[in-house]
Amino acid sequence: MSDINFEKLRAIVGEANLLRDPADLYVYGSDSSVHEGMPQAVVRPMTVEQVQELLRYADGERIPVIPRGSGSGMCGQVVPVQGGIVLDMKGMNRILEINLQDGYCRVEPGVVDDDLNKALKPHGVFYPPTPASSMVATIGGELANNASGTRSVKYGAARDAILAMKVVLAGGELVSFGATTRVAASGYPLERLMVGSEGTLGVIVEAALRFVPIPRLRCLGIAMFNQLGEAGDAISDIMGSGCQPSMLELVDKIAITAANKAEKLGLPEVEAILLFEADGMAKETIDPEIEKFRAICERHNGFGFEFSYDEKERARIFAARSKLFPSLSKYDERLASTSLADDMAVPFSKMAETANKIHEIAERHGLVMTAYGHCGAGCMHTKILMDTEKGEHWEAAQRAVAEIYEYVRSVGGTTSAEHGIGLSKAAAFKREKASVLGLMRGIKKVFDPNNIMNPGKLMDGPEDWVGETHLRYQKS
Ligand SMILES: Cc1cc2nc3c(=O)[nH]c(=O)nc-3n(C[C@H](O)[C@H](O)[C@H](O)COP(=O)(O)OP(=O)(O)OC[C@H]3O[C@@H](n4cnc5c(N)ncnc54)[C@H](O)[C@@H]3O)c2cc1C
Repeated sequence: MSDINFEKLRAIVGEANLLRDPADLYVYGSDSSVHEGMPQAVVRPMTVEQVQELLRYADGERIPVIPRGSGSGMCGQVVPVQGGIVLDMKGMNRILEINLQDGYCRVEPGVVDDDLNKALKPHGVFYPPTPASSMVATIGGELANNASGTRSVKYGAARDAILAMKVVLAGGELVSFGATTRVAASGYPLERLMVGSEGTLGVIVEAALRFVPIPRLRCLGIAMFNQLGEAGDAISDIMGSGCQPSMLELVDKIAITAANKAEKLGLPEVEAILLFEADGMAKETIDPEIEKFRAICERHNGFGFEFSYDEKERARIFAARSKLFPSLSKYDERLASTSLADDMAVPFSKMAETANKIHEIAERHGLVMTAYGHCGAGCMHTKILMDTEKGEHWEAAQRAVAEIYEYVRSVGGTTSAEHGIGLSKAAAFKREKASVLGLMRGIKKVFDPNNIMNPGKLMDGPEDWVGETHLRYQKS
């Protein structure tokens, strides 16, 4: 590990924005994953110039730099596996412009998603990628992970919302990518390359984002199923029918039970529930979508339909869905919910098979695993519920995860739908992208010749999928 000149850091960001106490450093050593590390310093830049100076210094000394938003990532993206300086970007949190005429807003990277949407609401527009963690997730973190959410089925992921971006490169140079126009055909779309780059190519210091009109009406529908596969088949038929849901979520029995325990929802504990939402400006356009949803679900033996235009009821269900990941730990108090094989994307036609496969693999390995997610967008989540102190649970989980990703690849899916790669999924990612890893490393070298930007992640992440050396848990 390189020596850090704390005087230098203090001179750049000031005493109040430099942390070096071990207790503070510990807090910045992990995220929502199973991994942990220890940075040597944490700094909170407040200006673009400070970011530039910090990177100039770190590049000169070959010190790793890890940009960080709120640390809600699920795969260890912000874990400082090689020490170095964590750049806490939350201090750069100004909304710089809301330009209704040209249809974009300009923000600093530390703006929290919900805060942006609060500011946009009076103008009748919203920024749609919105993950379930929108109360904490920053725009910088969402862009760097290509986050998406419940409404991405209709409105797209973070990559679909980006128009332009300012980035500080590893050597301290400030560059501008993209344009705020609605169309652009001016060379490589580097702003889109930055989306999903997980802090490995540079520091996003400003972003121009598209927004869309808030629909006047939203109707939420619920359907129940006695077979998980039938719910999965209904999803593929809905998506193939020309129906345009603004939300289509699958929740399996394990997740329903956990949500009931955590949030006292009182949902019937059937094998699966589909949550469907259609939005628009008039009931006349929404009702036919709802009818289509009902007819397709009935064809797959769906029952227990409920539909509501009521804002409060929708908000209650929506809030419970947002809290599903933490709720899973309530399923069985002895088991913790871990983000291991936590998300993947599969073709719609494989949704039913994938959901069943997850349960089958879990059972075979003596584990509890859920199948849920923004399935209308092709996104399937699993969480492994396990005793994190038991060595045999880790071994079983390791085998199960390898099988799941093998299966996902075999049906034309991909390693991550929205949570990214980080450390947890690096091994599966490298197997999937074997033919282009050289190209990716070449791109990284152009952006960051000295490999200081978030090293040891993505294509340079560990072969051992749980990153044995950076596990937060003591296995016995
Ligand atoms: C309960 C819960 C629910 C979640 N639900 C969803 C969901 O529905 N959809 C979804 O997509 N994700 C979800 N997530 C995962 C996570 O919240 C998102 O990926 C989120 O976008 C991360 O934002 P963050 O600010 O916490 O970023 P961090 O975790 O701090 O960082 C994420 C990545 O961004 C990089 N980064 C951060 N800021 C910058 C910057 N300025 N410049 C360059 N790189 C930067 C980091 O280096 C890191 O690689 C969930 C997490 C939790 C805990």
